[in-house]
Amino acid sequence: MPRPFPHPSTHPAIVPPYLLMRIASTDDPAYADAAEAARRSLLRDAPLREFRAAGELPSFMGPERPARDERPAAAPGTAPQPDRRISDAEGDDKLPGRLVRREGEPPTADTAVNQAYDGLGDTFEMFARVFARDSIDDAGMPLEATVHYGDRYDNAFWDGERMVFGDGDGEVFRGFTESISVIGHELAHGVTERTARLRYQGQSGALNEHVSDVFGALVEQYAKGQDAASATWLIGEGVFTDAVDGRAIRSMIEPGTAYDDDVLGRDPQPDHFDRYIETDEDNGGVHLNSGIPNRAFALAAVELGGFAWETVGRIWYDVLTSGRLKPTSNFREFARETVRAAQERHGRTSREARAVANGWATVGIEVPPTP
Ligand SMILES: [Zn+2]
Repeated sequence: MPRPFPHPSTHPAIVPPYLLMRIASTDDPAYADAAEAARRSLLRDAPLREFRAAGELPSFMGPERPARDERPAAAPGTAPQPDRRISDAEGDDKLPGRLVRREGEPPTADTAVNQAYDGLGDTFEMFARVFARDSIDDAGMPLEATVHYGDRYDNAFWDGERMVFGDGDGEVFRGFTESISVIGHELAHGVTERTARLRYQGQSGALNEHVSDVFGALVEQYAKGQDAASATWLIGEGVFTDAVDGRAIRSMIEPGTAYDDDVLGRDPQPDHFDRYIETDEDNGGVHLNSGIPNRAFALAAVELGGFAWETVGRIWYDVLTSGRLKPTSNFREFARETVRAAQERHGRTSREARAVANGWATVGIEVPPTP
């Protein structure tokens, strides 16, 4: 298989590099356009790959925004309000593109513009209402997005300042604005960058990916009013064309079952710590091994029932913002913190603490009871 980039690399985009490489290397003539588009997408992603390997903020993020107390104060009792700006790259790769819809403006004739606007709004609303977080930085940061980026670009990513969406190649991938979980996933990378700062490599990198899948799924469930039992637990549902044998990019509750397709191959995510994948690819398998904590989270949510953002979602957010995670925290340390957070919020022998510990035990990570 071709290796378009020789180094361990970072990838803030929703479609993992191994999937694009599968498409890029297909010789099926029915997917000639997709292979070409995937090759170009891989090349285009390369400059974005550097920052998470070091666990540092990307240099292109620019200066910090003003701290909360330097910003105009909101009126007392006012809920945080989003400040969305959607731009159109019109098939070019220049950012940000032409500003086409600002906060409060009516829908345009462009579906991708409206889907991006709505998805950013859903993400903002869940973080504000459920976690009392005022945007990604908890200081009212504007939510910016660019749609129609590049020529049939096969990805969507968060560049530290904005969400960027490609239109997809049309043969394997449709556009990326359709999936709320994709939008929530990418914006959650921004939240992790400003909280736990999990280093984007190996186990801490898989936890970084996991946290984004958690909040991506929660945003979608919140927007659709789905409880844990009726949720799909899919990440990226709707991004594949009908030609693909697949439901989504990942399944949180059944890792390894999201797709099984002639071109894409079979979803490679492991669902148990015994099957943890040691690899130099994909930053040490960050998009692969995230299946293990994903399954623990989804199982705990289903065991508890109700809306996941009110149960395990709060516990995970407590952990993310606790200050107790290290950039290099591994699966066992993270699991221990989630049980501890459940005990602090609900009691040492609470059903919440038990459900979280049960979820981890099912994927092969036993959390010893606290004394
Ligand atoms: Zn990601």
